[in-house]
Amino acid sequence: MVICEWCEAPMVLSIANKQAMGVRYLYYRCNTPSCPAMRGGKRQHIRAKIVIEAARAWLREHPLRLDVAHNHYVEEMHRIGESRRRETANTLRSLEQKKDHAQKRLQEIKKRIEELDDSSLASLYKEDVKKEKATVREADEALRPNSTAPSEKSIRTFT
Ligand SMILES: [Zn+2]
Repeated sequence: MVICEWCEAPMVLSIANKQAMGVRYLYYRCNTPSCPAMRGGKRQHIRAKIVIEAARAWLREHPLRLDVAHNHYVEEMHRIGESRRRETANTLRSLEQKKDHAQKRLQEIKKRIEELDDSSLASLYKEDVKKEKATVREADEALRPNSTAPSEKSIRTFT
């Protein structure tokens, strides 16, 4: 990827057709409308050949240590996996709490219904019961073992 030295946006690879001279060449162009390098409608651009030659020259002096880059990548993936696992654990905990709370509410409502003098008033609690039962059901659904927690396996797939 080639970055514009003026606005630091990635430049776009384009083909120039110089039909009069019968030549085509590749160049990188900055497409940022507000790029400070743009003057008189002329965009910042550079020949791809020059970029590649510069990259080759740099690589001759600084060979890529792919093993170092890879180790860094693996570490990073494990770090991300660890933080996702923590997030998932937090989500599970809060779901458990939600479910617990809804179940306690259901118990309370049941008790209140039993204590009613007039059993025809039980219908007043119908909506509450429905709501709490739905919360328990949703929590159960989300707590099923096919959860989204990234496994060791899925981390290995990335590395
Ligand atoms: Zn630019």
